[in-house]
Formats: sequence, structure tokens, C-alpha cells
Amino acid sequence: MIQEFTLRVLPEVAANEHNLKEYLKQEKGLSSQDITAIRVFKRSIDARQRTVFVNLSVRVFLNEMPDEPTYRPIAYPIVDGRPAVIVVGAGPGGLFAALRLIELGLRPIVVERGKDVRERKKDLAQISRMQVVDPESNYSFGEGGAGAYSDGKLYTRSKKRGNVEKILSVFCQHGASESILVDAHPHIGTDKLPRVIENIRRTILQCGGEVHFQTRMDALVLEGDRVIGIRTDSGDLYRGAVILATGHSARDVYRWLAENQVEMEAKGIAVGVRLEHPAKLIDCMQYHNKEGRGAYLPAAEYSFVTQVAGRGVYSFCMCPGGFVVPAASGPEQLVVNGMSPSSRGSQWSNSGMVVELHPEDLSDKSLRVEGGEPLSGSSVLDVMHFQEQLERLCWQQGNRQQTAPAQRMYDFCTKRLSADLPQSSYAPGLLASPLHFWMPSFISARLAEGFRIFGRNARGFLTNEAVMIGVETRTSAPVRIVRDRVTLQHIRLKGLFPCGEGAGYAGGIVSAAIDGERCAEAAACFLTGSEPQ
Ligand SMILES: Cc1cc2nc3c(=O)[nH]c(=O)nc-3n(C[C@H](O)[C@H](O)[C@H](O)COP(=O)(O)OP(=O)(O)OC[C@H]3O[C@@H](n4cnc5c(N)ncnc54)[C@H](O)[C@@H]3O)c2cc1C
Repeated sequence: MIQEFTLRVLPEVAANEHNLKEYLKQEKGLSSQDITAIRVFKRSIDARQRTVFVNLSVRVFLNEMPDEPTYRPIAYPIVDGRPAVIVVGAGPGGLFAALRLIELGLRPIVVERGKDVRERKKDLAQISRMQVVDPESNYSFGEGGAGAYSDGKLYTRSKKRGNVEKILSVFCQHGASESILVDAHPHIGTDKLPRVIENIRRTILQCGGEVHFQTRMDALVLEGDRVIGIRTDSGDLYRGAVILATGHSARDVYRWLAENQVEMEAKGIAVGVRLEHPAKLIDCMQYHNKEGRGAYLPAAEYSFVTQVAGRGVYSFCMCPGGFVVPAASGPEQLVVNGMSPSSRGSQWSNSGMVVELHPEDLSDKSLRVEGGEPLSGSSVLDVMHFQEQLERLCWQQGNRQQTAPAQRMYDFCTKRLSADLPQSSYAPGLLASPLHFWMPSFISARLAEGFRIFGRNARGFLTNEAVMIGVETRTSAPVRIVRDRVTLQHIRLKGLFPCGEGAGYAGGIVSAAIDGERCAEAAACFLTGSEPQ
């Protein structure tokens, strides 16, 4: 017999099957000898009250064993000799497009400018050790894209549950823990992601697809209003319809598109800093306990949002128990981001703290970047130019290296240079700097007010134990490569499928993956002449 229960239990009860069995015995009158297995199929933490509870949905198997798999693996067919589709970029968008093409009986040819996920790791280490960024192999470029050495949080605002579950199942099929199917806030962790990505590559190759590393697309090949392939940095020509999944850091791609009058539109982004607290401080604050999280709870999360002077100010991509990382993708840039390992065990918790910007804000004098050309918002690439100006200024403030300019949080709000800085997870090092002075006041004034509001709502959050690290600029794409809503092709260029975050149609790993699948389906319709669903 199978019985289902919705339980609200203490963290120590949810911690293992033995404790759950005891609980079910006492609270539900079940005999622990009869319980052959317990399957948790939903798990979330409720920390709103002083006592923290874990909400569980469980299936209890009495005198029988579960015979249903937790997910249905996909049987990927061999696609040797089938029509090819070129996928540019091996981030989540590109990789999930490639897998879906195989499912649909098409042969993906994946072209990736960076190195494979293991080789890439050495270049990431060099950023901290030697202060140099390889423009082809960094936190944005290389196998797995920005998703590889990311935090690996897999929650999304996408409302399409079926699509999200499919993506999570594919991750599990390629080696991710099945806990991601259960947790309200699924997380893989940066230590586990590379193996999952390698397994995805293996599937693509075993089925007859191709993956070309260190191969950069330098141009689309056009015949009138039709894309017939791509040309690479070594001059090779790959022919076929193109899924363009190059991410939001491929500024050379945006430049090529603008120079070749490929229709794009400017898009808003959000800009600010990474804010890092001691993890224990966030745990105490969120779990209402001065001892911290105890033995059974994970490092605590937070999420803040408010409006200041007509623009959103919010926390972004929170990494409990994580690290702040140097995420530049080229010379003379300083950009930070955050990630965490699966254990979420570091002694710090960080989050982007950003202010929403609209393209029309660029004409506002208070958004002018010191030393940068005035931007009117009249060029489609102006938001990208703004990102470049701010990243360059930040690099200058950081001693023209990857050492990041930083300021204690309370000092920033009271406009004081920090006399010293707290210890930080940011490996290339921090340099005390007056962020309140050199960041455009459009951003700094709103951030300071946002911090005051968040500090009033969450006691202890606004503190000099926290450090702000400059700058967080790559929150989303600065343009949208405009595509048809039904065919997902570029509005003018047939055979071109702008895809994922870089095209302006996704934000995050899961939504990029979903968009990759949709673009693969659209490319299949294009090749067979069938109607898109
Ligand atoms: C440190 C960090 C932490 C993050 N944490 C999370 C998180 O926890 N959860 C989450 O949902 N999101 C997170 N993100 C964001 C997430 O990684 C991105 O939203 C996602 O990877 C976007 O997927 P994509 O495939 O559209 O683009 P990308 O992942 O950016 O992939 C684009 C790929 O295209 C390649 N490319 C670019 N130009 C060319 C060219 N000309 N020729 C060939 N190849 C090219 C790049 O090398 C890259 O591999 C994080 C990002 C970073 C940097």
C-alpha cells in the first residue's frame, strides 16, 4: 500500500529516513516495520517564524517497494547522416538545444569558442593567481558557458512546470543529484556541474553530433535574407541553419550583428555590486537564532526587493555559503559574480545587489561614468557600452588588475572610505575604495537607500561586517536580437534562431535551457517545413 502525507516537521526530523520513520510511527500511527520506503517528492524550508519547519510531501510505501522511476530517462537516438543544425555556444541554451535536436532526429554541430570544461578550470585559477583573464576561456566562455562555473541554482520564474521538470530530469540523467527534483530551491553546485556538462557532451558525441572547442564564430554567412551557415576564426565554413546561443558576454557577436544591420533592440539591465556577509550572520538573521543554522539546516538564503525613485533595487543570484568570483571576459574589465559548491559550506554568503536601468536612463547625467563618452541611448549598443565603461572604471579603481574595489556596507551608506576591509572569499583580493564616490549616483544613491530599507526589514543586514565588491553588470543581455514569436527565427533573417540569455530571451540556467529546447523545435520545423506548435 502507498500513502501520501504532507508533513510540517522540525529540521532534525526531515534530516534522514530513520527519523522520519519514527515521526510517522508516532504522529500517523504507522508501524515502522511495515514502512519499506519513504519517497520525499517536495521539500521546502519555512523560516518565517521563530521555529523553523521543513515542509515535506512524502509517499510512504507499506509492505511494498517503489517500482516507479523518479524520472524517465530519454532514449537519445543515433543521428549520423541526419540533417545538421549548427549550434553556436555550449552554454545551457546551446547544450539543451543540441540534446533536443538529437531527440528530434537532427544532428547538432556545436561550435564553442572556449575550452572543454576541465581545461577551462585552469584558466579560471590563473585569473586569481596571475590576475590575467583569457578572453576565450573564463567564467563566461568555455564548455557549459556561464552556467558551468556558476552557482547552479536551478530555480526559475518560468511558470511552465512541465518544461522545468523536463530540464531537471535531463540534468539528473546526466549525473545531477535527484534531490533537484524535490527541493523547492534546487541547486547543483559548482563542484558538481562540470561532470554533468561532460556527460551531456558525451551524449551528443555518442549519438553522432559534433562538438568543436576553441572554435569561434566570427561571422554569419548570409545569402540575401537567409543565414546559410557560419564562418569561424580559422576561416572554416559550417553550413546549416544556426541556433545562436552565444550568451550575454559575447560583445563581439553583438558588434558584428550591429555592423551588419541585423535587427536588435536595446534592453534594460540591472547594475550594482556583490554584497558579501559572513554566512553565520545571514543564518542567524534568517533562522532567528543567535547560534546560526545548527546541524540540520542549509546556509540561509534571502531575497530583497524594493523601489527607490522609480527603479527596482533588489538582491540577485544569492549564493549562500559561496564565493565571489572574477567574472570578466576580456582585458581592462572588472566584473564580479557569485557561486557556491554543493555543500554551500563556505563561511560567506553573497548576493548581487542591483538597480534596474532602462535604456532611456542613459541620457540621465547621474548615470554618466567618469571618463566615459556620453551615451544618449540612441545606439542599440549603448547599454552594452555603458556596461563596458563601468567595468573599465572598476578595473581602474581596482589597480588595473582583478583586485576588486570594495567598501564596507555601512561606510558606503554613510559615504566614508573604509579604513580596512573584512576577510573575503574573493580570491584575487580587495582594495578599499569609495564606491559611493565613483559609482554613478543614479546607482549608488538608490543602492544606499535600498540598503537602509532592507536593514529596517531585516535586523542586522545593514552592517559594516558586510562588504560591497564592485561591480556587477552582467545580470542580463543589453540587447534583444529580435525574433518572430511563433517561428523563433530572426524577424528578417531566415534560418537564424537567436537563443538563450544572449538573445534576450532567458535569464538563468533553466530558462536558457528551456529556450534552447524551443529553438531546437523551431529549427526542426524550419527544416521539415512543418508548422511550429
Ligand atoms: C558566476 C556565475 C554564477 C551564476 N549562477 C547562476 C545560478 O546559480 N543559477 C542560474 O540560473 N544562473 C546562474 N548564472 C547565469 C547563467 O549561467 C546564465 O544565465 C546561463 O548560463 C545563460 O545560458 P546561455 O546558454 O544563454 O549563455 P552562456 O551560458 O553565456 O553560454 C554562451 C556560450 O557561447 C559561447 N560563445 C560566445 N560567443 C561565441 C562565438 N562567437 N563562437 C562560439 N561560441 C561562442 C561562450 O563561450 C559560452 O560558452 C550564473 C552566471 C555566472 C557567471
